[in-house]
Amino acid sequence: MPHESLNRSRYWDGDYYNEGMDAATFDKLKEECGVFGVYGHPEASALSFFGLHALQHRGEESAGICTTDGKEFYYHRDMGLVKEVFDNDRLISLKGSTAIGHVRYSTSGESQLQNAQPLVFKYRGGDMAIATNGNLVNAAEIRRELEEQGSIFQTTSDTEVVIHLIARSQQEDIVEAVKEALRRLVGGFAFLILVNDQLFVAQDPHGLRPLVIGKLGDAYVFASETCAFETVGATYLRDIAPGELLIVNQDGMREDRFAPMQRRAICAMEYIYFSRPDSDLDNINLHSARKRMGQKLAMEAFVDADVVTGVPDSSISAAIGYAEQTGIPYELGLIKNRYTGRTFIQPSQELRERGVKMKLSAVRKVVEGKRVVMIDDSIVRGTTSLRIVNMLREAGAKEVHVRITSPPYMNPCFYGIDTPSRNNLIAASKSVEEIRQAINADSLHFLSKDGLLEAIGRPQGEHNRGMCTGCFDADYPTEVNDEDGSCGC
Ligand code: SF4
Repeated sequence: MPHESLNRSRYWDGDYYNEGMDAATFDKLKEECGVFGVYGHPEASALSFFGLHALQHRGEESAGICTTDGKEFYYHRDMGLVKEVFDNDRLISLKGSTAIGHVRYSTSGESQLQNAQPLVFKYRGGDMAIATNGNLVNAAEIRRELEEQGSIFQTTSDTEVVIHLIARSQQEDIVEAVKEALRRLVGGFAFLILVNDQLFVAQDPHGLRPLVIGKLGDAYVFASETCAFETVGATYLRDIAPGELLIVNQDGMREDRFAPMQRRAICAMEYIYFSRPDSDLDNINLHSARKRMGQKLAMEAFVDADVVTGVPDSSISAAIGYAEQTGIPYELGLIKNRYTGRTFIQPSQELRERGVKMKLSAVRKVVEGKRVVMIDDSIVRGTTSLRIVNMLREAGAKEVHVRITSPPYMNPCFYGIDTPSRNNLIAASKSVEEIRQAINADSLHFLSKDGLLEAIGRPQGEHNRGMCTGCFDADYPTEVNDEDGSCGC
């Protein structure tokens, strides 16, 4: 039954609805970054282009590739999508059989070209380039220390501290210098580091960010997600282990570590939202995991309804799961327009609201007169959910029941996800009932943490089944010392 206190006239007005309209049109959490690397393939730059294109959802602000032929480094990076940054001539100019590439998202004010990766430097030992996904909790502290010792930084990116630590190391052996640098770092990170003709691949000791290795003929390929391997035709070998360091050079690939594995804590939001549904994370397919989340939601909070719909794209799998579990038909009640790009021209409130509809539309014929279950992956500020619920109501939905495939998101992330400060996270200050009212839903349920962990299906035995759940319960795997979690890529 619809809730008594529902104010059905609140479609496109009201203070809450207008909050945040001048910021991003949608306040979804931002993916952090994506990395792709190749060692030993004559078409390394072209493969990187296709690999990064498959990882585009992880960062849409800038893209870059650095290659080497064993003698020189060649690189190009720029603001924009992968297909905008590179053309055929550019890729041909990136010579050599080894490459690292990067796609980046960053917070506003930090989106300068100088922070686009790979970062490339010359140092006394030769050339070095780095591409990373994640965030260092202690980057500011290390940076301060290095600046006091005379280091001059060229970017505001956390990643540059790693370059300085390697370059300043007293270790004769470059492998030892890299290990020494990595041991100083606290946070979630997946690194591809090119030093002259050697490629280093490292994952933080908790394994917070995903990183996988594959084979393409005799070449090794590395990527943030397995979907990139499908695109380039590579075979998945395995996930990089927490604390592991791979050294790839003309003698082949050597498996080493720079730190013992600590509490395994892969990011739960990768399973819920960030990674593509066709990727596998630690051998768990994300579409299947999300379907199970939808099934769990149905078990925890069934509601009698006429149709189930998912907010595209990340929640479609879960909506299918909810529909399968309940027998309520799954329908495409919401459609995402894939060709909007960025909306720069929004001169009036009315047109801004059109801007929202440019990105997402409700399908009137599907939802009109229906009781709709709307599945989404998370509620951040609440503004997006309110807009979508109102969009469904405006298209004639009789009731809108919101089901979320994550527990309430109430704490910032310190490991590479761009999260608003705690004050802006609606779940940090409002109860579930207050959030329901704020988003104008007839009912609202967040998947329980136990339900989530079970749905993802990682083996039992480890703390939180080997996952980080910090943004839901403040149970962070490392020390954290900063209110503002953001992407440090
Ligand atoms: S705090 Fe949340 S978003 Fe950040 S790594 Fe942990 S689970 Fe992922």
